[in-house]
Amino acid sequence: MCFLIKLLEVQNMAKELVLTPGKCTGCTTCALTCSITYHNEFNLAKSHIRIRKHDVEGVFEITFLSTCLKCHRCAEVCPSGCLRSVKLLDDIQEGGK
Ligand code: SF4
Ligand code: SF4
Repeated sequence: MCFLIKLLEVQNMAKELVLTPGKCTGCTTCALTCSITYHNEFNLAKSHIRIRKHDVEGVFEITFLSTCLKCHRCAEVCPSGCLRSVKLLDDIQEGGK
């Protein structure tokens, strides 16, 4: 029983970054938040996430650099729902939707 409670606690704390690229508006709020958090300046080049527009398709490509610390702050400020911070236990209960 103790093991089960501990397991549930760990699962409840674990989070995953979930990306829905089609929702991205290219606002760069995520990248600016990342750079101000880790470099104390608004500088897209210093962010751990990159937003690139594909002009022909009119969509945005989002890439996390290998230096990303998985802190989820970018997801917390994304206004469009493109980037979300999802608890793994919630995801399991929702059937992974
Ligand atoms: S998870 Fe954290 S470190 Fe990674 S891109 Fe987002 S804000 Fe930056
Ligand atoms: S992922 Fe969200 S915060 Fe980042 S550019 Fe797209 S809409 Fe803006």
